[in-house]
Amino acid sequence: MTSQLINGVELSNQLRQALQTRVQALTKEGHTPGLAVILVGENPASQVYVRNKVKACDQVGIHSVLEKTPDTLTEKELLAKIEALNKDPLVHGILVQLPLPPHIDAQRVIEAISPQKDVDGFHISSAGALMTGAQGFWPCTPFGCMKMLESIHYDLKGKHAVVIGRSNIVGKPMAMMLLQKNATVTLCHSHTKNLADLTRQADLIVAAVGIRNVLTKDMVKPGAVVLDVGMNRDEEGKLCGDVDFNGVSQVAAFITPVPGGVGPMTITMLLHNTVWAAEQLNSTVERPLQSN
Ligand code: NAP
Repeated sequence: MTSQLINGVELSNQLRQALQTRVQALTKEGHTPGLAVILVGENPASQVYVRNKVKACDQVGIHSVLEKTPDTLTEKELLAKIEALNKDPLVHGILVQLPLPPHIDAQRVIEAISPQKDVDGFHISSAGALMTGAQGFWPCTPFGCMKMLESIHYDLKGKHAVVIGRSNIVGKPMAMMLLQKNATVTLCHSHTKNLADLTRQADLIVAAVGIRNVLTKDMVKPGAVVLDVGMNRDEEGKLCGDVDFNGVSQVAAFITPVPGGVGPMTITMLLHNTVWAAEQLNSTVERPLQSN
């Protein structure tokens, strides 16, 4: 079997076109969606992520404000900035790029963001909403994975999904989203015994670990769907995922590439959440009830 590729770039472009129309409707009413991005320090990877997010905002017409601050910024100063953005009517979404320097408590900072502007979906009230099935922001990376499954018309009902990785930003919310769509979910982590025995039973595998080749061909049931969230570097310094792409693509029915898979979808869902936030706060145009 040779896998079909789920192309995150193409799907992103389609979704961004639809978002652009929603942005235009909001702009016509005088409510251009606004995203504020705060970057603390000079982390090179964070600088690239932030640049890509701002560029994507421009592409669909979202107004973005990037605030770069030195890593000497105190937690109190950062909290004050967030407080000001919470009150700013032109800002519908607030994103604080992680990781933060060690002297700043990231969780305290996330909790300071207004739940109505929590476009990353990391606030405890967003996590609670996802857990209980209530309306709220879904974290962008697992949300992007769900959109990829939707794009191949994958019916999750009764399927066995194995998620590898249990972080608050990817693995756990991914498991909750899959559960909400009636999959039977196994959530694996570094203490999981016999990972391969579990993945071999899976109809769907989501790899979100941060270790290259953590999922190999022998661990995948023929015909399974494989989503690769990982972002690693190979020995030549090239971007790669958690999945041994060459091997696994011989057995999986569908697979996401790295680069060009989940990565662009993450940014697209950030745009989606920002537009949705603006619609919730301002618009009189018809709008979806859920962020998802
Ligand atoms: P993280 O917070 O480091 O979590 C990694 C998870 O993997 C942990 O739950 C850990 O288990 C588990 N793990 C570690 N070794 C394992 C093993 N040998 N077998 C099974 N599970 C193992 O990472 P993250 O933030 O979730 O990110 C995961 C990967 O996705 C990274 O490569 C990151 O760069 C990438 N990522 C990509 C995007 C995107 O847009 N494409 C977005 C976010 C993250 P414990 O909990 O037991 O430690």
